[in-house]
Amino acid sequence: MSVRRVSVFGATGSIGQSTLDLIGRAPEGYDVVALTGGANVAQLAADARRFQADVAVIADESRLEALRAALEGSGVQAAAGPAALLEAAARPADWVMSAIVGAAGLAPGLEALKQGATLALANKESLVSGGALLLDTAKRHGGTVLPVDSEHSAIFQALVGEDMAAVERLVITASGGAFRDWPLDKLAQASVGEASSHPNWDMGQRITIDSASMFNKAMEVIETHEYFGIDPEKIEVLVHPQSLVHALVGFQDGALMAHLGAPDMRHAIGYALHHPQRAPLPVARLDLAQIGRLDFAPPDPARYPALALAYQVMARGGLSGAVFNAAKDAALDAFIAGEIGFTHMAQVVAQVLDRLLPDNSLINAPMNLDNIAAAAHLGQTQSREAVRKLASHR
Ligand code: NAD
Ligand code: MG
Repeated sequence: MSVRRVSVFGATGSIGQSTLDLIGRAPEGYDVVALTGGANVAQLAADARRFQADVAVIADESRLEALRAALEGSGVQAAAGPAALLEAAARPADWVMSAIVGAAGLAPGLEALKQGATLALANKESLVSGGALLLDTAKRHGGTVLPVDSEHSAIFQALVGEDMAAVERLVITASGGAFRDWPLDKLAQASVGEASSHPNWDMGQRITIDSASMFNKAMEVIETHEYFGIDPEKIEVLVHPQSLVHALVGFQDGALMAHLGAPDMRHAIGYALHHPQRAPLPVARLDLAQIGRLDFAPPDPARYPALALAYQVMARGGLSGAVFNAAKDAALDAFIAGEIGFTHMAQVVAQVLDRLLPDNSLINAPMNLDNIAAAAHLGQTQSREAVRKLASHR
């Protein structure tokens, strides 16, 4: 196999580190072009040295000197800030991991697609905020987007050799998160610490809290709609506490194809890394006889009000996903900062959608980076406004 040029955006995070773990098991197969991190200079510099990257970019500009110092004598170029992230994404690479968290992942992903790379997409916010733009950019420039979110990788794998026209429904599973079994009346008091621990998956803090509220699943429903181009009413969410079945594809002949695997993101990352081949991966093998049972239940709308919001967003279309993502992020920030309670997050986002979706003309504006940013700004300011009102009544 020839050496492949790879870049990892968000290399210092949970997905980024798992990606480097896989690449590090066969380093001779890869030429690492760019690695990026948000603020963790020590981790970024250590990885850039280990993989002899061409360039290491730290998003936080105030840390450029620290990064330069940490890379001294390594031959790795140091850079910082959003423009440097774009420059790194424009460097020719065959495969680029998009694992920045949040809307900041969209612009570098577009840049990578413009140079024709395969974009392994963990950054679900890209599809939620600018799905049509991302997929159009790939099409126009000969780039490819491969899903890395576990549910979407599972659907993608179950669809190999199948015709989308024969698909009746796509079912994504949800563990139910940290509060699946909590009494409903205790949820309002849930602390940030309690929301930050996931029963099955080891992930970054934001997505872990989003799993407890099911905002993560709401994002994934929209992601499914955008990526697979399927109607919202054909997308279902199923609570599955074991997190072993990741998704199911239902066909018009009644067959349901399920994808099972250990809850380890290195499977979905590795599938995208080796696609279209399957390569051996260091993930646990399931012993179903020992596991014995798999449980399923419908999601309770009273416990997970965030889920319904996704269907509101899909029905509205346009830039409503960018509003939703930004409003959610601002509400999540406020929860993490202790300004609002856990159950307030869904209330805040619902208020923002109720106010903006019906007649805000910006939602109908053409989808480009400027308009996505404007819609996000609107969602964020309205979300903060709703947070302020709630917080003043607490
Ligand atoms: P994380 O918080 O562990 O890592 C995020 C990475 O992005 C870090 O390298 C961080 O430094 C960087 N970053 C943060 N803000 C940035 C900014 N403004 N500009 C540039 N870089 C920035 O998050 P994660 O859990 O690895 O998730 C990464 C993405 O993958 C998210 O979109 C998440 O929803 C998605 N995802 C994660 C998992 C998982 O198991 N962790 C599963 C599915 C999807
Ligand atoms: Mg997922």
